[in-house]
Amino acid sequence: MSTVVSKFGGSSVANAEQIRKVAAIVRDDPRRRVVVVSAPGKRSKEDEKITDILISCHARAAAGKDFRPRFALIRERYASIAADLGLGNDLEPVLDEVEASIAGGADDSAVVSRGEYLGAHLIARFLGAEFVDAAELIRFANSTAIDDAATDHAVRERLGGNGVVVIPGFYGAHADGRVQLFSRGGSDISASLIARALGAERYENWTDVSGLLSADPRVVTDPDPIAEVTYHELRELAYLGANVFHDEAVAPVADANIPIQIRNTNEPGHPGTMITSGASAEPRPAGTRTGVAGKTGFAGVLVKRSMLSKISDLPGQLGSVLGGAGIRLHHCALGSDSALAIVESAALDAAGVGVLKEIETLFSAHSVERTGPYALVGAVGTDLAVVPEVLGTVLTAFAAAKLPIHFVSSGYSRSSFIVAVDEDRYQEAIWQVYAATA
Ligand code: ADP
Ligand code: ASP
Ligand code: MG
Repeated sequence: MSTVVSKFGGSSVANAEQIRKVAAIVRDDPRRRVVVVSAPGKRSKEDEKITDILISCHARAAAGKDFRPRFALIRERYASIAADLGLGNDLEPVLDEVEASIAGGADDSAVVSRGEYLGAHLIARFLGAEFVDAAELIRFANSTAIDDAATDHAVRERLGGNGVVVIPGFYGAHADGRVQLFSRGGSDISASLIARALGAERYENWTDVSGLLSADPRVVTDPDPIAEVTYHELRELAYLGANVFHDEAVAPVADANIPIQIRNTNEPGHPGTMITSGASAEPRPAGTRTGVAGKTGFAGVLVKRSMLSKISDLPGQLGSVLGGAGIRLHHCALGSDSALAIVESAALDAAGVGVLKEIETLFSAHSVERTGPYALVGAVGTDLAVVPEVLGTVLTAFAAAKLPIHFVSSGYSRSSFIVAVDEDRYQEAIWQVYAATA
C-alpha cells in the first residue's frame, strides 16, 4: 500500500481537542501510516510553546538559576493533555529524567528535543499506534548535515510495516547516539526526510492555516490563498521569511518528486496548497506574483575606503571574517569606495565590536560602521524579477509612501527580488510590495 507521511505542527497538537482532530484525520485515510509531530505549541496568542519553555529551562540551568518553576509548567501541560485524552500519566518517570538531565547540565539538543519526544509518546498512545524514536531514524553526519544513506536505510528498515507509527519531529542522532536538533521549525525537515526515504505518495504538512497564502496573514489582511506552487517558489518564499514551511524541508521531497500538501488541521476538508515541480502546470504569464514575504532582524556592515573595489576577492574575505565570528553574510553590495554587508542583527550583537575592528584592519578601511536595523522584504513569482514594470511599480509605490530603500537585490533568480527597508516600517513595506505586485 502506498504511504502518506503526515506532519502535524505545534498548534495541531497543542491540547487534547487538537489531538482529537489529528486522530480523526489519521483515521480518515489508511494511507496515513506515518505521523510526525511537533511539540505542543501555543493554545492561544499569549501561551508559550513547550519548545520555548524547554529552551528557557536549559538557559536558566546553564546560568545557575532555578529552572524548576518553569519545568513545572511542562509537567502540568502534559498531565492536562493526558487527563483530557483519558490517558494515565505514565510520562512522569520520563519527565523526572528530563528534569534531572537539565539539572545535570545536559546539552540543549538533549533537553529541547524532549518536547517532541514526550508529545509523540502521548499521541501514539491515544492513536493506539507505535511510537518510533527519531533518534533511530534520522542520522546526522555532523551538527548540520544529514547522513542521507544512513537515514534512508534506517527509515526503510524500521518503518517497513503496515501499522500506524508516530515519530517525534525536530531531532535525530549522531552515529554515537547523541541527539541533534534541527533549527527551529525543523519538524518539517524530519517529515520530509522520512517521506523521501519511504518514497511516499505525498507529504502532508498539517498546520493552522489552509495552505500557503500569498502573504503572512498576521501582516496582510486576508491574503489570497495559493492553490498550487512549485518547489522552487516555495523554497524562495520560505527563504524570504514565509515561515509556514521550513526552507530546508523542500529539497528531500523535491528531489524524489513527492508532492507536498500544506493543509489546515482545523479545516480538513480544504485542499490547501499543493506543491510540485510544476511540470504539468499551465504556464502563467510573466510577471504573475505568487507571494510576498519578509523578515526583520537585519543590520548592515558598511565598509569605506577609497578604491575598495580594487581588492580582489573582497566579498570572499568579508564573508570569511564574518563567518569566522559566527555571522552569516546574507547579501553584499559593492561599490568603488564602499561595501555593504547585510547580516543578522543578533549574530552581530553576539560577535561584539571586535569583528568590525577586524574588518577595519584587514582592509585598512577608513571606517567600518554598523547600519540599520533593517527588514528584508521581497516577492516571488513567474519571471517577476525580469519584467521591468514589476520592480518599477514597487519602487514607485515606495517613493509615494516615502519609504526609504537601503538595498535592492534582483537578478539572483528570474523569479524574485529583495529590498531592505527600515525595520520599523516592515509591515508597511510588506503591504506596499503586496499591493504593487497584485
Ligand atoms: P506549525 O506549528 O504548524 O509548523 P507554523 O507556526 O510554523 O506552524 O506556521 C504556520 C504559521 O505561519 C501560520 O499560522 C501563519 O501565521 C504563518 N505564516 C507566515 N507566512 C505565511 C504564509 N505566506 N502563508 C501561510 N502562513 C504563513
Ligand atoms: N517544536 C520545534 C519548534 O518550535 C520544532 C517544530 O515545531 O517544528 O521550533
Ligand atoms: Mg512550523
